[in-house]
Amino acid sequence: MNLILLGPPGAGKGTQAKSICDKFNLCHLSTGDILRNEVTNETELGKQAKDIMDKGELVSNDIILMIIDKFITDNQSKFNGFLFDGFPRSSEQAEMLNKLLNDIKVNINKVILIDVDQSILLDRIMKRKEEEGRLDDSEEVLKSRLEVYHTQTQPLADYYSNLKLLEKVDGNMEIIQVNQAINSILEAA
Ligand code: AMP
Repeated sequence: MNLILLGPPGAGKGTQAKSICDKFNLCHLSTGDILRNEVTNETELGKQAKDIMDKGELVSNDIILMIIDKFITDNQSKFNGFLFDGFPRSSEQAEMLNKLLNDIKVNINKVILIDVDQSILLDRIMKRKEEEGRLDDSEEVLKSRLEVYHTQTQPLADYYSNLKLLEKVDGNMEIIQVNQAINSILEAA
C-alpha cells in the first residue's frame, strides 16, 4: 500500500504519518525531515536548501528528485509500501512521483487530505516551535508556507480527487480521533 498525506503546515501530517506507518508497516518518506537532517549535518545539499527552507519556500525539484529517488531505492524492499509526507507539493512533483512509481511498477492507493481550519494552524505551529524549535515555525514564515500551500499544493487535492484517490479527514479533531478516522479509511481500502 502506498499513500500520500496532504495538508497545510501544522495539520499534523508528521504525527499521523508515524502511527500509520507503524500500524501498516509503511516507510515514512518525509522530504521535510530528510532536508532538515541534511541541514543539521551541514551537507552540501543542506547548505543549498537551508535559506529556502527558512523562508518557507519550496526547494528545487532537482534536489527533491535526488532525495526521493535515493530514498525509494534504499527502502523499497524493507516495507509494505511508502507513505509520502510533504511530497508531492506541486503538480510538477506529482508528475515526478508518477514517473518514479511507474518505473518501480507500483501505484498510489489513497491520498489522505488532513483538512484543518486556518484559525487553529497558527496555535499548533507555535506549540511545535516550543517543542521542536524549528526555525520555519514562526508567524512570519507560516504566512509564506500557507501561501505556497494554497497556490501550489492544494490544487493536488482536485488532481487526486479526479483520480478517485482522495479521502478527506477532519484534522480539527484530537490526534487520536484523526488517527481513528484515517485507520477506518485504510482498513476499508
Ligand atoms: P515540511 O516539514 O514538510 O513542512 O517541510 C519543511 C520545508 O522543507 C518546506 O517549507 C520546504 O522549504 C522544504 N520542503 C519539504 N518538502 C518539500 C518538497 N516536496 N518540495 C520542495 N520543498 C520541500
